[in-house]
Amino acid sequence: MRFGIIGSGIAGLTAAWALDRSGHDVDLFECGSSLGMAAQTVDLNLDDKVRVGDVPSRMFNRLQWPNLCLLYDLLGVDTVPVEPSQTFSHLHGPVYLRLKNAYRAKLDRNFLLGRTVRKLLKTAAELKSAGVRDLAAGLPSDLTLGSYLSNSGVSRDFISDFLYPTLSSTVCTCSYASLDAYPASIILQALRELTADGETLLKTTHGTRDVVNRLVSGNLATRLNTRVHQIDAPPTGPVDLKLQLPDGRMQTETFDHVVVSTQANHARDLLNESSAEDREILAMFDYESIPVIVHLDTRLMPPRRGHWGTFNMISQRDPQPAAMCTVLMNQFHRDWQMPSPAVFQTINPILEPDPGSVIQTSVLQRPLVNRHSQVAWERLSAAMLRPGRRIWFCGSYAVAGVPLLETGVVSAVNVLQGLDVELPFTDRDLAASSQR
Ligand SMILES: Cc1cc2nc3c(=O)[nH]c(=O)nc-3n(C[C@H](O)[C@H](O)[C@H](O)COP(=O)(O)OP(=O)(O)OC[C@H]3O[C@@H](n4cnc5c(N)ncnc54)[C@H](O)[C@@H]3O)c2cc1C
Repeated sequence: MRFGIIGSGIAGLTAAWALDRSGHDVDLFECGSSLGMAAQTVDLNLDDKVRVGDVPSRMFNRLQWPNLCLLYDLLGVDTVPVEPSQTFSHLHGPVYLRLKNAYRAKLDRNFLLGRTVRKLLKTAAELKSAGVRDLAAGLPSDLTLGSYLSNSGVSRDFISDFLYPTLSSTVCTCSYASLDAYPASIILQALRELTADGETLLKTTHGTRDVVNRLVSGNLATRLNTRVHQIDAPPTGPVDLKLQLPDGRMQTETFDHVVVSTQANHARDLLNESSAEDREILAMFDYESIPVIVHLDTRLMPPRRGHWGTFNMISQRDPQPAAMCTVLMNQFHRDWQMPSPAVFQTINPILEPDPGSVIQTSVLQRPLVNRHSQVAWERLSAAMLRPGRRIWFCGSYAVAGVPLLETGVVSAVNVLQGLDVELPFTDRDLAASSQR
């Protein structure tokens, strides 16, 4: 059978790789000039050598990302632990908290333990145990994080100096208002898995380009600079894709099945009235744009260099509460072995870096999770079971949970199941992998 896959993020790449392995003809369309998952990777020519930097600097662990890790195992992708130190400060202020291990409230011993910090860490531990208990008891699916936190009585300082800077600039990358609307159960579950004892935070050893090269190494046709403009599926028969080719010409090509693995808002715009229900479901997923800037401006780091960690959360309360995370790329990429110049990657800057220091600016879209997405997940999974379906949807937005590489892989596996295609791995493989 002939498959058209639209979009080359982790979801589209996983679907394309598995369909190609099962012997189907696969065309993978990407409107950008490189494969989407690695499109923002940056080549830095700062000394005599070229250093390759991952943007965004993505991480995972075996507990929360079991399907992703199994896929990487099958592909032979090497992984290394991330140097996980984390600092917290207010804009232009000194570091008030330095953790040895991101997502675990283990204090750096060299750091002074003030009363406020002790209180903060105590609350973090209490919230963790309360979260485990409440998850076990079952939380209403419509209880938002904002309501959960106000009912639990945790202090505003804890939220604005610790919890929200971490969630808004790393785990969920969204505004504080969108965090308030997140379902409490999803955040508590994510925090439980991120902070589980013995879980090591990992990154790929050779970067995202290595991952995407492995995923497209088979026989599939990778068609870059090719934008899909419209999907046309008559009630029976094959699906037509209206494409804009790299030379600008428009062309229609026909496929037995099409897997749409773009962001939900882009997918919706590709469909016509014959896919009215799908359009309605896809319109329920909301997005926020997240600027990610690679630069050399030390003003977006804590003032004292000796306090720097790999991940540096800097927050402000006015004019509106917000936080950024600046990643020290030299430390994130241990293999760079380049102590200077220090290269930074700032997610969601609340202070603009000096334009002369900017190496690359990307604006990434991240799905939000709220009451609308909970309804949409249910409707989408029911709609995907309809017999005779020939247009399929996957992407990190499409399954329950914080949208991450893991949900992208799971959504692609769901599509493969719907298509009755041989899965790249079994539940037994998954169980064995998570034991490692
Ligand atoms: C700052 C930041 C940090 C993150 N950190 C982590 C992390 O540490 N760990 C983690 O697991 N996840 C992380 N994530 C989330 C993760 O990167 C995403 O969930 C994941 O990459 C999304 O993959 P996807 O396949 O759903 O979609 P995308 O990667 O968005 O892919 C969609 C593709 O479709 C293409 N496309 C769109 N329209 C068309 C069209 N009409 N024709 C052809 N092509 C089209 C786009 O160009 C794009 O390449 C982070 C995200 C951000 C923003």
